[in-house]
Amino acid sequence: MSEIGADPMSKDFRRYGAIEGGGTKFVVLTGSDPDHIDRLEQIETTTPQKTLQRCIDFLVEEHRRSALAAVGIGMFGPVDLRKGSSTYGYVTTTPKLLWQFTDIVGPLQQALGIPIGWENDVNAAVLGEARYGAGRSCDPLVYLTVGTGVGGGVYVGGRVLHGLLHPEMGHVLMPSVPGDDFEGACPFHGRCLEGLVSGPAIEARCRRPASMVPMDDPAWGIVAEYLGAALMDISLILSPERIVLGGGVIADGWLLPKIREVLVRRLQSYLAHALLGERVDEYVVSSALGGRAGVIGALAVAREAAEAEG
Ligand code: ZN
Repeated sequence: MSEIGADPMSKDFRRYGAIEGGGTKFVVLTGSDPDHIDRLEQIETTTPQKTLQRCIDFLVEEHRRSALAAVGIGMFGPVDLRKGSSTYGYVTTTPKLLWQFTDIVGPLQQALGIPIGWENDVNAAVLGEARYGAGRSCDPLVYLTVGTGVGGGVYVGGRVLHGLLHPEMGHVLMPSVPGDDFEGACPFHGRCLEGLVSGPAIEARCRRPASMVPMDDPAWGIVAEYLGAALMDISLILSPERIVLGGGVIADGWLLPKIREVLVRRLQSYLAHALLGERVDEYVVSSALGGRAGVIGALAVAREAAEAEG
């Protein structure tokens, strides 16, 4: 169920390009599916011009070698996904100042002349998990990443949900937890989910990096309490068939049993389904794509873009 891999029935052997745009590095690759990657390169994130040019050079060379059907991008956000908008394909109001209002899709489109699929990183990741990872055959599917930031993507009706902008479920407000007086670390909302459970929030709370906080520290119980509450809200609003958790704070999965326990306790059996009771370990699962969720997601975005073109 959770192995990574292409759909064995797939007859799609076309080649695609994929770009994962991250705050510290970009990952760019070519291939057909997660089992057939031709070439992969990591590029340090510097200025938009330098970083994008290296991605373009890589993909143009690969496209000349053997045609690419499309390129998919999963980019740190916020991004503009609204087709027809004057800033479609741009990174918009990001706190990474050099990258504010940078056109990402335009230069790639111009250099390659093939369909370019465009999503933010978590939207790409949820599509990757739906097509190749821990969410195969689940619809709706939610992917939530807990790392430097907290973000979530929704896959529903066979596609990624965009909405007015795109979901930002990392910033939902959290209930108070008795005994917790931490004021929260989100510069916009203080005690939103990201402000309470992101890596930097855990570091601010515990005064050391999250990776150095021992597993028996009471802070983890509080983090699990907030994550369980958030998964309750997600379950109530979207009724997903599965929630996939990824990101550095979740990485090795040891926190998952605590989070599941909180979710089931808080729901009080209100949602009458075994997946929200005795089978909750099948409902809240770890990412199957792990650190590759972004770039494999971008590969899935490329495939969608090629299919949309026919
Ligand atoms: Zn916030």
